[in-house]
Amino acid sequence: MARNYGGLYNIARWGEPYFTVNQDGHLCVNTHGDQRESGQEIDVLHVIQAAKDSVQFPMILRFPGLLKHHLDSLHTAFDNAIKNTGYMARYQGVFPVKVNQNKAIIQDFVHFGHGYNYGLEAGSKPELLIAMSCLTKANSKAFLVCNGYKDAEYVALALSARAMGLNAIIVMEMEEELDIIIDQSNKLGVDPVVGVRAKLLTKIPGHFGSTAGKHGKFGLPAKKIYEVANRLRHLEKLQWLKLLHFHIGSMIPSTEIVSKAATEAADIYCTLVNEYGARMDTLDCGGGLGVDYDGTRSGSDMSVAYGLEEYASSIVQAVRVKCEDNGVDHPVLCTESGRAMVSHHSMIILEALSAIPEPKDDEETTPEELQAMIDDLSSKKWLKGDDDAAVAKPMSSHAAEIKEHGIEIYKVAKKLAKSVMAKETTIYNYHMNLSIFSLVPDCWGIQQLFPMMPVSRLHERPTNMATLIDLTCDSDGKVEKFIRGAQTLPLHPLDPKLGGYYVAVLLSGAYQEALSSKHNLFGGPSIVRVDESGGIVTADLGATTEELISTMRYDVNQDILDVIHERAEEHGVWKMVGEIVKAGLTTMPYLIEYQVPLPGTA
Ligand SMILES: *Cc1c(COP(=O)(O)O)cnc(C)c1O
Repeated sequence: MARNYGGLYNIARWGEPYFTVNQDGHLCVNTHGDQRESGQEIDVLHVIQAAKDSVQFPMILRFPGLLKHHLDSLHTAFDNAIKNTGYMARYQGVFPVKVNQNKAIIQDFVHFGHGYNYGLEAGSKPELLIAMSCLTKANSKAFLVCNGYKDAEYVALALSARAMGLNAIIVMEMEEELDIIIDQSNKLGVDPVVGVRAKLLTKIPGHFGSTAGKHGKFGLPAKKIYEVANRLRHLEKLQWLKLLHFHIGSMIPSTEIVSKAATEAADIYCTLVNEYGARMDTLDCGGGLGVDYDGTRSGSDMSVAYGLEEYASSIVQAVRVKCEDNGVDHPVLCTESGRAMVSHHSMIILEALSAIPEPKDDEETTPEELQAMIDDLSSKKWLKGDDDAAVAKPMSSHAAEIKEHGIEIYKVAKKLAKSVMAKETTIYNYHMNLSIFSLVPDCWGIQQLFPMMPVSRLHERPTNMATLIDLTCDSDGKVEKFIRGAQTLPLHPLDPKLGGYYVAVLLSGAYQEALSSKHNLFGGPSIVRVDESGGIVTADLGATTEELISTMRYDVNQDILDVIHERAEEHGVWKMVGEIVKAGLTTMPYLIEYQVPLPGTA
């Protein structure tokens, strides 16, 4: 039996049942999840080898089979929860387009979701236009939930969707939107279906918490929602109001919070029905279903302590209990799970360019000295607030000083951790064909951690402790934090005789592509769509240099090509320069094995 080092990366915990390591020591994908039969695993290295002839690195491999599997699992979970608790209405979800707007993904969801009446959620005008066109292929009952701040143009688009026979619901984020809705409805002669977004008091701790709570950015507090109902009643338009919506943020850490939020919202729902006479029929519980990125089930920012079944039954139970207490009919339940639906189906493939041992700095302060610095900093008297001078300062500047101080301690502590480790091991800087800012912006922006591992040689012990360095001219362009608190990633020494060495960034299908930025004008990756048997369906090149330059308002022909042409002609070198420049414009900006054509051969 060959050895298997997948355990070093915790693959069984975050990856089961979709990702495994096979007999050859290669990373594999199982799009059938638990129901797979042997021989159905897709060997990732084989896909990369087939794809690299037609597209450049870095590339995203997409497995639409995993989208289908997640969609089926979501519906099974809600169907079971509904059956087991005697809930009397159905579940009907939507995919929030903002999580990944790519055409193939949205079309896949509409296609795979047809039998479930699965719909889409939009948060802006471009997303609404995508949803309107893609939903023409969906079941006509499928929801088109229109969230986000709205102007007259947005509302007019949503009403057009309704006029086209799509089940569009305009969800009010602000009171002021009601005037726009009334006005546009009169102008266009289309009756809207209206929802209201509730600003709940229930909120989640940690990074994603600021969406909800009293100070949350979105929605109306209960009192304002009742005012909206009153206003609609006076206008004799109360029949417009059908849906109550809430979304308390991404990565909800526990089912206690899911239940609490659903209970709070169901209470508002029941009040609208019983006290205001609204003929409500749907409760939309938003997104937030989490992904266990590190496989720890810990409920930290990178992990959630529950699965799909527990999530679904928490919502169904909470709403059922509240409605029964109030004698209100059970609403149709909608959710807008995004992250949990698409994360697994994409992996980013990075190519290693070189591995260089990090030089050990002799002058570096010793761990003992660093420890002493931390002790000194944290024992500063005024930090404890018993210094008269400090108290006399305005509170705000005192707070700023404490913050500054905390940051300093944190910096020294980070140095200490690194120097203790460096004493014991050599760290290797793996230079990768990558821009953090373009491919995994959340690693930079919110310190998100994705599981990463080599794609091959997993029967061989990875002996190098590695950090990943990207191509950008930016000191933030590196990865030196990995899941489960690790500061290095175990990788194999590079051996050109064995072919390319690739690192996969897993569970990376949500948010990264739209948040991607163009630092140094590196752009998006190539995208390779892989079918259930590992065959390549499509392979599209990522953004080319030409496309990236034009996003900065250059006309590539006028401002770049013509100008270079003129100057090169003056020097009599256009024949050579022209070919090189044209090749440069039409390829991706990442490194390639580009061969300069010999003069006169083309
Ligand atoms: C972002 C967002 C979602 C998706 O959240 P996930 O955490 O990805 O499930 C759903 N609904 C609304 C209103 C959102 O803003």
